[in-house]
Amino acid sequence: MEKKIFLASPHMSKEGYEQEFIKEAFDTNWIAPLGENVNKFEEEIANYVGTKHAAALSSGTAAIHMALKALDVKQGDIVFCSSLTFSATANPIIYQNATPVFIDSEKETWNMDPKALEKAFEKYPNPKAVIVVHLYGTPAKMDEIMEICNAHNVPLIEDAAESLGSTYRNKQTGTFGKYGIFSFNGNKIITTSGGGMLVSENAEKIQKVRFWSTQAREKARHYEHKEIGYNYRMSNIVAGIGRGQLKVLDERIKEKTEIYNQYKEAFATITDIKMQPVPVNTVPNHWLSVITIDKQSKVKPLDIIEKLEKENIETRPVWKPMDLQPVFKEYDFITASIDNQSVGKELFETGVCLPSDTKMTKEEQDVVIQNIKELFECN
Ligand SMILES: *Cc1c(COP(=O)(O)O)cnc(C)c1O
Repeated sequence: MEKKIFLASPHMSKEGYEQEFIKEAFDTNWIAPLGENVNKFEEEIANYVGTKHAAALSSGTAAIHMALKALDVKQGDIVFCSSLTFSATANPIIYQNATPVFIDSEKETWNMDPKALEKAFEKYPNPKAVIVVHLYGTPAKMDEIMEICNAHNVPLIEDAAESLGSTYRNKQTGTFGKYGIFSFNGNKIITTSGGGMLVSENAEKIQKVRFWSTQAREKARHYEHKEIGYNYRMSNIVAGIGRGQLKVLDERIKEKTEIYNQYKEAFATITDIKMQPVPVNTVPNHWLSVITIDKQSKVKPLDIIEKLEKENIETRPVWKPMDLQPVFKEYDFITASIDNQSVGKELFETGVCLPSDTKMTKEEQDVVIQNIKELFECN
């Protein structure tokens, strides 16, 4: 194909909402640093997900960092963290000089396994925090995970970077734990070109995060600093894009869900292909449609990736788990699988993320499907 088909690319509203908000910022010269768009975007995200407070930041990674800092995570502290994720989930633990312990996934949601989490608490009874990820937009087993965290009185941070708009028992991901974070990076379900949001019920801590993320300037005429600050705040222009994008979030979720259903239907007759499951009591945003290929299948994930690449179609392997990453090799990993064969590793080895771009036409998706089907038919 001449036109590249993307995994997920920025998709601005056809109405041009984003440009209206940016124009307003230009007209009032509220280009930087802060302004109405930042305040409103925080309010609008908080309203959408159903939390009291939100702080708009420069990235999802910055939001995770600030959540850890708000929980006073520091040197000597242990933080339990989903292993099957993007490295941005774990890196801020190291920024705070704390020690990650990586937790394996389970097969029903691909997210943190409550059994492995229990096991981690047996080995390390006093972690400072737990970070759970909602992978590819699919909510983790929040009832079980909340129950364990509450029983041990340990605060939970939800990395909902990929799951904005997903719900678990009708409650939005990002609102179960003490802190939730969202990302508006270029490939996410809505984007501001780059940005993030920290949400919480704790007004005082959110205010503190705004303070830290604007260089920790004390109230004084001169520049007075009692704490180390960060330059992590979202700009008023970027927030304008976010306000426009938020207006089409529900539309994007609908489109992503149609893409998922179309793949599911197309592959229903190919027994070697399984879609990432939709767990009970959840409504995922279907940010990415992801399949796994049976280990016994003659067709390997790499065959799919390479065939589609030749057709100018973008795919990706599933995230390589953090416990397998050279940079994190010194840290512990806890799995509850009986044969010690981690679920995360298996998902990494058998999974393929398929094009889930909302700008992809139905005809283009048919080409993707056809190419994959051909591989299985001739094998
Ligand atoms: C994208 C992503 C992040 C980081 O968000 P940025 O805004 O790119 O910093 C963190 N965690 C997960 C799971 C992500 O997919």
